[in-house]
Amino acid sequence: MARHAVTLIPGDGVGPEICEASRRVLEATGVEFDWDVQNAGEAAIAEFGTPLPDPVLESIRKNKVALKGPITTPVGSGFRSVNVALRQALDLYALVRPVKAYKGARNLRDDLDFIIVRENTEDIYAGLEFEKGTTDADHLIQEISGLLKKKIRPDSGLSIKPISVSGSERIVQFAFDYARRNNRRKVTAVHKANIMKHTDGLFLAVARQVAERNKDIEFEDRIVDNMCMQLVLRPKEYDILCCPNLYGDIISDLGAGMIGGLGLAPGANIGTDGAVFEATHGSAPKYAGKNKVNPMAVMLSGVMMLRYLEETAAADALDKAIANVIALGENVTYDLKESRDDPTAVGTSQVADAVIAQLKAGEAAQPA
Ligand code: NAD
Repeated sequence: MARHAVTLIPGDGVGPEICEASRRVLEATGVEFDWDVQNAGEAAIAEFGTPLPDPVLESIRKNKVALKGPITTPVGSGFRSVNVALRQALDLYALVRPVKAYKGARNLRDDLDFIIVRENTEDIYAGLEFEKGTTDADHLIQEISGLLKKKIRPDSGLSIKPISVSGSERIVQFAFDYARRNNRRKVTAVHKANIMKHTDGLFLAVARQVAERNKDIEFEDRIVDNMCMQLVLRPKEYDILCCPNLYGDIISDLGAGMIGGLGLAPGANIGTDGAVFEATHGSAPKYAGKNKVNPMAVMLSGVMMLRYLEETAAADALDKAIANVIALGENVTYDLKESRDDPTAVGTSQVADAVIAQLKAGEAAQPA
């Protein structure tokens, strides 16, 4: 079996604990890894003076695969978000977030199984912002007011929302390719084209063109507000949701809430030349070092990583082991319990022990 070189970024807050728990279960699958541990975030500031030092990017560029803990964006670091900067620096343009109900989790309903494909590099999330009252903001307000013959209040802040043909084309094509590779039947483009005609409208027009070239997979579109309601009322009708950046961000948390919370919401940032696997949630700083939070979102991101590395049998075994721990309900963290202060909740590392025990039990059950 081939060894895999993987960059491991423990991250901030609860990151080191949940990454260590995930590293242990990934190794227990029998797949062999050469971990290249790299500090980003607060740990990197002390050493390099920046939360996103070059060695992190170089390591991911070399290994092409990374497992990452959440990173806090320190105030005054010069970054709006270290996570967004990392995605932009490596052009990880697709963020894949599966929403799958595991039996025994606090699901809204037990048949949930859809995937969010979020554009990761543009939209109002691109960080193009002008602070209220600055010379640049004043200048832009005057310029735009003149061009559009519409008044913008002088005490406004401004955020720019770029959505390009090329950016839209590649994310929609990614969604179709992902559907094909993962036996999914339909792509739904999510937008607000009725209001934002030149950004979301462009996204929708491009999505329709791309759909014409991918006729083996069904295609439809939904306006984002309706999409949210449909997901709660009729989720079975949806399969892959292809979203511009901001809607993808919001729908991801809606999806996480539908399957019992952020502790079970994994993700994969994928580009043409590499991939970074990370949970949807952040660094939950108040729980740092307390052996308290759920490591399963990172573990499930690890399952996605195993699939990306074409270690399908290990991915299936780890997914099943995690599913069994959730279904048994004994060795789970507080967030998977009915009441948040349930004294029977276990800690982060005990969840890893339980998942490893399930992996071993699964192996023992296999015919020799
Ligand atoms: P958060 O996701 O860190 O935490 C919000 C709350 O969700 C926590 O207090 C906790 O109650 C719960 N929670 C989160 N993860 C959990 C887990 N694994 N198990 C159980 N409960 C869990 O969100 P926040 O407080 O808004 O952000 C904290 C920091 O994380 C910020 O600096 C933010 O910028 C950063 N962040 C990073 C990423 C990333 O690295 N990709 C993503 C989101 C936020």
